[in-house]
Amino acid sequence: MGPQKAYNRHFCIPMNNYPKIVVIGAGFAGINFIKKLENKPVQIILIDENNFHQFQPLLYQVAISGLEPDSVVSPIRKLFKSCVNMIYRMAKVEHIDTENNCVQTNIGFVNYDYLVIATGSSTNFYGSKSIEKNSIGLKNINDAINIRSWMLQNLELAVEGCNNEEKESLTKFVIVGGGPAGVEMAGALAEFKKYLLRNDYPEIESDTMQIHLIQAGDRILPMMSSKSSKHALKVLKNLDVQIMLNSRVMDYDGEIITIKMEDKDIEIHTNTVIWTAGVKGNILKGIDKKTIVGNRIKVNEFNQVDNLDNVFAIGDIAAMLSDENPKGHPMVAQVAIQQSQNLANNIISKVKHGNFKSPFKYKNKGSMATIGKKDAVADLKIGFLDGKIGWLLWSFIHLISITGFKNKFKIGFSWMLKYFSYEKANQLIIRKYTRD
Ligand SMILES: Cc1cc2nc3c(=O)[nH]c(=O)nc-3n(C[C@H](O)[C@H](O)[C@H](O)COP(=O)(O)OP(=O)(O)OC[C@H]3O[C@@H](n4cnc5c(N)ncnc54)[C@H](O)[C@@H]3O)c2cc1C
Repeated sequence: MGPQKAYNRHFCIPMNNYPKIVVIGAGFAGINFIKKLENKPVQIILIDENNFHQFQPLLYQVAISGLEPDSVVSPIRKLFKSCVNMIYRMAKVEHIDTENNCVQTNIGFVNYDYLVIATGSSTNFYGSKSIEKNSIGLKNINDAINIRSWMLQNLELAVEGCNNEEKESLTKFVIVGGGPAGVEMAGALAEFKKYLLRNDYPEIESDTMQIHLIQAGDRILPMMSSKSSKHALKVLKNLDVQIMLNSRVMDYDGEIITIKMEDKDIEIHTNTVIWTAGVKGNILKGIDKKTIVGNRIKVNEFNQVDNLDNVFAIGDIAAMLSDENPKGHPMVAQVAIQQSQNLANNIISKVKHGNFKSPFKYKNKGSMATIGKKDAVADLKIGFLDGKIGWLLWSFIHLISITGFKNKFKIGFSWMLKYFSYEKANQLIIRKYTRD
């Protein structure tokens, strides 16, 4: 069947009289929305281009060979094996037709009574084609595997070469973005350098390997308390990470990254740039441009998209503007989970009683970031935690949040082993990474 023919056919799904809810995206928002509606009197059609859910907070551990990729992804069909009112289709949504209540995908189209857009976000390179082409993001499992392969490929090349300049470039890792993803990646790379490089790559002097963290603002972890920022800065410096604050990346051509630090232009020769400096909402075609604010879809307090009664957006893609959050809520898992659960309750109330139950109110449970394998910072309602206590709490929260018992067990066991030794998972280059 040719792609054009497939595009024009209706999804083959069982017909019934239940309201039909199409959910786009099996991220934190999509899966928690469906879990809340499991076996309720609605028919749910979940569409995601991947047949798995990804646990993004632990991607950096896959990138650094600390965890295997299958520990941080869960098959959608397994997650919902007892959910009789959900149908999953692996497809990429290409267009939404809100006039005709229709979602068009690369394998066909489907009509809806309610549409829930939970498409999340992707790496924002702020329009720079050369940075996008030459650096690697850290937003999905493919990125994590690419970073892992690229890092190991570079180290293999570095042991082979005799040219010192080339060696330096191959063993210099530049991370752009001082948020939690960048800080966690930098800490993990620094521990790799400190504890593993000498054993695994004895031909490389550990002084040769350098890790740079570039941050546009005047502190790392700007979304956390200043105590957290200071502690993270201290720990990373002790791990020999070179941190550049107030520094903007201007370009990266695959060999040289150009940085503007206040009024100085700085060039670093490096073969690897990991870009964690921003995300943007995955906006689908067909969404009215007037409803897009800051690369996200504007929604009201019921997560309803402007002027569309039966279309909702939740999670990273949704911008719910208020006096408290003039730019919308932070793009974090807690917001996605809480919005999805609130919307599920509202839709059930609408189906049963004809009206929504309650507007969304975000309960901020705090934020955390880990720095290396035995240290973390946590800003909680009860106060600030750091060091080993912070790390234990971080590990516990992540372990209970990861989907699937098997993944919890694999990760818990792996962390326990690594707590007492610095042996990493298999540092295998299964699929080589090549820049386009
Ligand atoms: C490296 C990293 C670390 C993070 N660490 C933390 C943390 O420690 N704590 C925290 O709270 N948050 C963290 N976050 C943020 C958190 O992961 C996100 O806020 C959360 O994943 C948002 O959930 P979501 O469901 O909105 O989107 P996502 O989880 O991004 O899911 C979107 C889904 O939509 C699918 N999709 C998109 N477009 C289409 C399409 N056109 N057709 C079909 N399917 C589509 C995608 O395949 C994906 O499955 C981190 C993020 C990253 C990248």
